[in-house]
Amino acid sequence: MAEITLSVTENQIDSLIRLTKEDLPNESCCLLVGRIVNDNEYCVEQVKIMENKMHSENSFQMDPDELREVYQWASNNSLDIVGVYHSHLDGSTPSSTDLIFMKLNPVIWLIYEVSGSRFRAFTLVQDILKEVKIKISRE
Ligand SMILES: [Zn+2]
Repeated sequence: MAEITLSVTENQIDSLIRLTKEDLPNESCCLLVGRIVNDNEYCVEQVKIMENKMHSENSFQMDPDELREVYQWASNNSLDIVGVYHSHLDGSTPSSTDLIFMKLNPVIWLIYEVSGSRFRAFTLVQDILKEVKIKISRE
């Protein structure tokens, strides 16, 4: 099976890191809006900052009204929700709670691990966790 890739720009990566640092020690979360080029290539065009309603260091929850707004905005602009971003203080793989929500939300899950200063991305393919390759472009 072909490798799945998530394309992001350096600017998007920088803003995710900045945002995450502002929210520390709590987890921050965003929706990644863009295009699914084909089944294996997801391209981020806009990062939509979401409030973490839990204000927690080890979980996040997006606001249903904010979610509805972003989905509406994406649909109006002929874009897709390609991914969910959130941060972890420690650990770069999805938690057991994340896995439950990944099943409900089968998009790309991008995680930034604060302690390791690294991004990793995952998705579920037929319920099996698969790592997604992150492709960072200069714009
Ligand atoms: Zn998590």
